Amino acid sequence: MKIVKHADELKKEIFGAKNTGEKIGFVPTMGALHAGHKLLVERAIAENDFCIVSIFVNPTQFNNKTDLEKYPRNLDVDILLLEKTGCDLVFVPNIEDMYALEEMNIPFQFDFGGLDQVMEGKFRPGHFNGVVQIVSKLFNLVQPDKAYFGEKDFQQLSIIHRMVKIMNYKVDIIDCPIVREPSGLAMSSRNERLSTEERKKASEISKVLFESRNFVNSFTPDELSQWVIGEVNAVKGLKVEYFEIVDIESLQIMRTWSKPTVGCITVFCGAVRLIDNIRYIIN
Ligand code: AMP
Repeated sequence: MKIVKHADELKKEIFGAKNTGEKIGFVPTMGALHAGHKLLVERAIAENDFCIVSIFVNPTQFNNKTDLEKYPRNLDVDILLLEKTGCDLVFVPNIEDMYALEEMNIPFQFDFGGLDQVMEGKFRPGHFNGVVQIVSKLFNLVQPDKAYFGEKDFQQLSIIHRMVKIMNYKVDIIDCPIVREPSGLAMSSRNERLSTEERKKASEISKVLFESRNFVNSFTPDELSQWVIGEVNAVKGLKVEYFEIVDIESLQIMRTWSKPTVGCITVFCGAVRLIDNIRYIIN
């Protein structure tokens, strides 16, 4: 596996792969890799000729400085994991490779068509501008045929689909299901910051979400939201930031079950902010 640190070196590798007609599969990550990331990488390897993974903790998508500083970083372990999966190239740029100095002070603006008005967009102002900024830069460099994203970050995935449409990127975005720990807890790099006790508590989040599926025929979305928030907040040490039941396409809050919906939750487990989501199927 090649480890590439600079954009110029990456461009040469891409030129070589494209010249020999290889299809490029790409998985952008912020590192501290786990089985959720591994699933994306395995799919990218299976469905393409050349698999590239990027590891870059993107400062412009963090609206909270402490969160950025505390974000787990395990580069050596990540590289070992990627080597084992059979990934061809890992791109590990530094900030200067991705951003000109002046870009760090000018907020990047993207028209989200309303997708950023709810949930993460509301609670983390500027977050999705930073996501689109870095993913568009990475797409320009890597020129992938297919790029793999997790449904765990449901709103991010919707925004990436819109970005590709609006910016005419010639890339297929592949949606990958949430990978969970045996307890049900959605895998996340941030789980590394949880104590054993906190991990146990955090697993209650997915238990409540799964249980909530039993009530779709008797509760309105609003009633179900209140139920979920109440159940999660009843676990000592968990504090819901938001739980919204939204249309899977427009991400607008649903008052009835008239369209396919997803319930998205953010919970503080101590100081660690965790996200998860669940699809509701109406009979
Ligand atoms: P991150 O490193 O957190 O930026 O995540 C990189 C990619 O992995 C994103 O597309 C995430 O949605 C995806 N991902 C993270 N956790 C999971 C998970 N538990 N299951 C599936 N995909 C995931």
